Amino acid sequence: MSIQDKLYLDRFNADKQSHLFIIDPDVCLTKCPEQYCTKFCPAHVYEWDPEAQKILVGYEGCVECGTCRIGCPFRNIKWLNPRGGYGVQYRQG
Ligand code: SF4
Ligand code: SF4
Repeated sequence: MSIQDKLYLDRFNADKQSHLFIIDPDVCLTKCPEQYCTKFCPAHVYEWDPEAQKILVGYEGCVECGTCRIGCPFRNIKWLNPRGGYGVQYRQG
């Protein structure tokens, strides 16, 4: 079973409020043309919106791996644990 197949089995109880925040959108726009977060997040939570010229955060699909806590070279992502009862529920480890 591939990683993508396992991720598909996970279930999510999405909160109404995000637990992930871009601290300064201008940093993404002016200092980070590589947009690393769009590449290192295994759940594709971060997506560049070319029209809005900013990173969109689909926090509902976060698998809480913690990569973005250390992966952004500008420390431009604020990462909190989801509130109790919300977030991912793993089915295949
Ligand atoms: S890696 Fe960090 S600075 Fe770069 S686009 Fe993502 S959040 Fe912005
Ligand atoms: S914790 Fe992992 S899955 Fe969640 S947004 Fe960060 S990199 Fe993506």
